[in-house]
Amino acid sequence: MHELSIAQSILSIAENAVPKNSNAVVTGIGLQIGELSSIEIESLEFAFSVIKAETLLQKAELNIEIVKGEARCNECKTIFLLSSYGTCCPICKSYSMKILKGKEMKVFNITVDE
Ligand SMILES: [Zn+2]
Repeated sequence: MHELSIAQSILSIAENAVPKNSNAVVTGIGLQIGELSSIEIESLEFAFSVIKAETLLQKAELNIEIVKGEARCNECKTIFLLSSYGTCCPICKSYSMKILKGKEMKVFNITVDE
């Protein structure tokens, strides 16, 4: 399951970010998830709630921010929003495009209570 491995990588990013042997408690993880990443938010939240037990993330909540999909048409160079694959350019109807944004999944902040 895709979302489980993502949840595990979030955990290892957080473990690397918080100094060992500190009393710091992680209370929040900010995530940016692209609309085109094919990540299911509900599955990810569930996977995260399962793996965070007994880790330094046990009190952490996920704060998820959705990044809109954005592409540039290879024909007319228009930049437009797309929420899923299979969308054509709104100007020239071309399907030839470069995806600029919306495929990413990244941790953008970690909230720690000292
Ligand atoms: Zn176009």
